Amino acid sequence: MDFSMLHPADQLVMMMERIYSYGMTTTSGGNLSILDDNGDIWITPGSVDKGSLTRDDIVRVTPDGTVIGNHKPSSEFPVHKRIYETRPDLRAVLHAHPPALVAFSIVRKKPETRLVPNVAQICGSVDFALYDVPGSIGLSKKIAAKFGEGHNVVMLENHGVFVGSTSIFGAFKAFETFDFCARLQIEALKVGKISALTDEQIALSKEKQHARMDEFVNRNVTSEEKAARRDMVKFITRAYRQQLFTSTQGTFSQRLSDGTFLITPYDIDRKYIQPEDIVKIHGNWCEQGKTPSRSVLLHKRIYDDHPEINSIIIAHSPHIMAFAVSDAEFDSRTIPESYIMLRDVKKLPFGVSFMDHALVSNTISHMTPIVLLENECVLVTGASLLNAFDKLEVMEYSAKAILDTCNIGKLVKISDAEVKELRDAFKF
Ligand SMILES: [Zn+2]
Repeated sequence: MDFSMLHPADQLVMMMERIYSYGMTTTSGGNLSILDDNGDIWITPGSVDKGSLTRDDIVRVTPDGTVIGNHKPSSEFPVHKRIYETRPDLRAVLHAHPPALVAFSIVRKKPETRLVPNVAQICGSVDFALYDVPGSIGLSKKIAAKFGEGHNVVMLENHGVFVGSTSIFGAFKAFETFDFCARLQIEALKVGKISALTDEQIALSKEKQHARMDEFVNRNVTSEEKAARRDMVKFITRAYRQQLFTSTQGTFSQRLSDGTFLITPYDIDRKYIQPEDIVKIHGNWCEQGKTPSRSVLLHKRIYDDHPEINSIIIAHSPHIMAFAVSDAEFDSRTIPESYIMLRDVKKLPFGVSFMDHALVSNTISHMTPIVLLENECVLVTGASLLNAFDKLEVMEYSAKAILDTCNIGKLVKISDAEVKELRDAFKF
């Protein structure tokens, strides 16, 4: 979906609904604005329920300060206005107080944006603005000054975060990614010592990840392919809703009976993805005019090596990722249902997903259907889309359960003898 073609009031309503339903703001907290080509600022109102905003609630403030609309603009309007004055390149500003970022704001620390490669790239540089009274001129000056230094994400002491971008989706993406990063760090620190990527590792991932493929025209679309596209969209949007994917991170692929496979596109909003956005791969060829997920060649290698695998998911699910960015080992021997489905999850070093496809593929077996890639992602394989999705969900829930044990007692694993009993009973 191209947000820029929607009216600013509609863009703001859709984004606020998304932020609110995601638990990233309360009904009274948080405000969004868009600066349009006429110089008008469209902004969410103050003191109106954020859970049921409509386009008629959005307020327009013209360059001479005239307020047009049914409500008063948000009390943080002066901050938004001053940010636009300081940074003419920005066209959208988002402010909210999601719990994880507030946690960092009240201990006055910045979240580590180098736990996974793309976060630093999406969020840009981050800095802190000093505390001041909400809605005050002092606060707006302090925040705008930080944007003036070139930061696009500014945390506020004992408050929340302001994000600026060239579009409202850009601001949302940076905000969502930054919040993900804060939540990930909080979870990972419960189980182990975290390790951040170096500049070299981030540069390497940027340079190596794009696959070059020749293109073909996808002429004969079978009913099987149409059904697979439909089902992929269903699971992708569900994975987004359940926060197993973020708006632009998370890859699904599905093999078809003729040996081709379908894969999610690169950088398309997972919330609104459509069947026609999915990319078909035929041998080393890619469907014309589309950009497949950067991990496409890894998927291809796994399908080539493992005829029993028909579906692959790559995700950054927040609780699983706690084990990918820390030195803690993920052990599925928590409850029988988890072990039966997840079995022996292995962790591989950073970079192999784009530099050593053979290693990843050779690690996968019927006893290891899932691999964790350090500081990158989790890769789940399955006999079908539903089977792979089920494994991802079970692993995310198991990871959350393990993280939840931290303050209540020592985890007792299912013993080797009990594992043998399970393998005999369920024949694997
Ligand atoms: Zn606020």
